Amino acid sequence: MGEMIHVAFVGNPNCGKTTLFNAITGAKLKVANWPGVTVEKKEGQARYKDTPLNIVDTPGIYSLTCYTIEEQVTRNCVMDDEIDVIVNIVDASSLERNLYLTLQLLELGKPVILALNMMDVVKDRGMEIDLHRLPEMLGDIPVVPVSAAKREGLDILLHAVKHHHMESPRLAEGKLPFTYPEPIETKIEKLQVMLSAHYPGHHHMRWHAIKLLEWDEQVREEHPMSIVNVVDKNYEKDIIHAKYNYIETIVEEVVFYKEKKAASTDKVDRLLTHPVFGVPIFLCIMALVFFMTFTVGDALKGVFEEGLSLFSGFAEHLLLGMNASGWLVSLIVDGIIAGVGGILTFLPNIFILFLALAILEDSGYMARVAYVMDSIMGKAGLSGKAFLPMVLGFGCTVPAIMATRALETEKDRRRTMFITPFMSCSARLPVYVLFADMFFGKYAPLASFSMYVIGLLIAILIALILNFKDKGKENDSLLIELPEYKKPNGKTIRIYVWNKLKDYLTKAGTTIFVASILIWFLLNFGMKGMVTGPEESFGAMIGKILVPVLKPAGLGMWQIVVALISGISAKEVVVSSFAVLFGISNANSPEGMAVILSHIRQGIPDFGMLNSYSLMLFCLLYTPCIATIATIKKESGSLAFTAKMLVFQLVLAYLVSVVFFQVGSLCSGVFL
Ligand code: GDP
Ligand code: MG
Repeated sequence: MGEMIHVAFVGNPNCGKTTLFNAITGAKLKVANWPGVTVEKKEGQARYKDTPLNIVDTPGIYSLTCYTIEEQVTRNCVMDDEIDVIVNIVDASSLERNLYLTLQLLELGKPVILALNMMDVVKDRGMEIDLHRLPEMLGDIPVVPVSAAKREGLDILLHAVKHHHMESPRLAEGKLPFTYPEPIETKIEKLQVMLSAHYPGHHHMRWHAIKLLEWDEQVREEHPMSIVNVVDKNYEKDIIHAKYNYIETIVEEVVFYKEKKAASTDKVDRLLTHPVFGVPIFLCIMALVFFMTFTVGDALKGVFEEGLSLFSGFAEHLLLGMNASGWLVSLIVDGIIAGVGGILTFLPNIFILFLALAILEDSGYMARVAYVMDSIMGKAGLSGKAFLPMVLGFGCTVPAIMATRALETEKDRRRTMFITPFMSCSARLPVYVLFADMFFGKYAPLASFSMYVIGLLIAILIALILNFKDKGKENDSLLIELPEYKKPNGKTIRIYVWNKLKDYLTKAGTTIFVASILIWFLLNFGMKGMVTGPEESFGAMIGKILVPVLKPAGLGMWQIVVALISGISAKEVVVSSFAVLFGISNANSPEGMAVILSHIRQGIPDFGMLNSYSLMLFCLLYTPCIATIATIKKESGSLAFTAKMLVFQLVLAYLVSVVFFQVGSLCSGVFL
């Protein structure tokens, strides 16, 4: 029996490490935590012919820096002397992204075997990989095509492990896969000489020298040495660029497409991801979406309106016929039907919005948007990846907050969480639709669209400020996978849109239902029990306290205060509140709007465009809904962070709407 070989499986997240690990080790595995951290460590045994193998499945990482816990754990593991050989598992269908880690692993100087996983996907996509040229370009390491899912190529992989673990020919010859530009190589050489003088017998010399040039904290701490003469600045960016340049060359040489799909994608992408036109094109597309949301949505709305008013009349009739008491009729007709039904009439608008988002997403365009935003986000110290949660935020903030899990560092996550609620979610759409329709006439879509742009700008601005405050460095852009464009799949879209509509309907049936009853109660009861006019109700009492505060924003009316407070349960409730407040069965109809307007003008006689825009701004920026708050608390794990964020949003919303209203009033006073 041979001596035990210790193997580490290393690779990007989702490259198939665990699948391969399970396929090779079967059930013989041990699960524990890595020392000192709560990252799971899986260890298992296998045997190739008469050689026992001990295999460790490391957490997925994109690079060997030590910014994240996963990176630290993996880095310590592979550098450990116990590990004889590294099996670097890569997703062969996206070599471009995966090879970055490979190049770093190769620099360690340990035996590396490349397992080209997902070969089945490669075949399905009509791709071919040159299996002779690839190892040549990586310094003659063994490259084994496998498919972990189909259990193909596993024996050949283990064979390679057995035969290449001792001394790799590459190491013996000192063969490097690639070299850096001359000035960097000179520095690496100098540092290696210095290192061997300081720390004779040290392994990983070249890697170590490179890490010194990158100002790697861990390496500098563990092997202190005066290097100021050689390392005059941080070379991290140059080193990253050199690696990516080389990866580009590799991919050009070894990856072939049988079908020439890529060319057309390239051409379209040159326009859509253009550094200058990319963002304006995105804004135009979004503007188009909102224009559609209004026009097509409005056309469909008529049907809903009629249905709702018929239903409301019928219910009232029925209840009166049954001799139901006055308060019950009021609760059902003025409370529930007005509150919930009013929200349902926005279903067509919501439908169009999600249909458009689904098509943009499924066609592959949204990934391009993230790519385009990458450089802007980079300046704000965030990676383009942060934009994906933000795009989701156009739909609903809750999944968007959860999507921040994809970000690498806790700091990135928190920052992205902080700015995501400013992305205008679909629940705010009814508020815009209603108030824009009432005051902006044919410019209503534009007024609504401006909310999305303002939200986006504010989010980016805040990220910039936070980054400046932290004296953060620019985040190096990450490679984002740009999938091929494809014709949106009918089924995917149907499922996506249906799920969103279902969520909306569920919300109408739960949160908004309960909120409507509560609001009805607040407006119909007071200190003396059931009241005849809302002026004496609890709602009025609460609202009136805050009227002076909101007055400078042009919103000094207790009904508006009540609507805004209720809106914290769900943003649509702002609209339901108005319906319940003014006893309108359908807020979203011309008659409903006329009633709202006449009521509001009783409180604020000159309520007009400025006030309504100020209200929209406030709704865009203020405290998000309960569900979002709970998600932020859960995902950040910090009550203090959540509280800080809520206060910030409230203050920001207030300041922005006050400043807008005051400046607006001043200007209109001067010009009109
Ligand atoms: P890990 O994050 O690297 O541990 O990746 P996993 O082993 O969890 O795999 C990620 C996903 O890729 C899973 O859905 C696997 O079923 C899938 N997968 C893994 N290997 C293959 C493969 O060879 N072919 C295909 N088609 N899918 C694979
Ligand atoms: Mg895994």
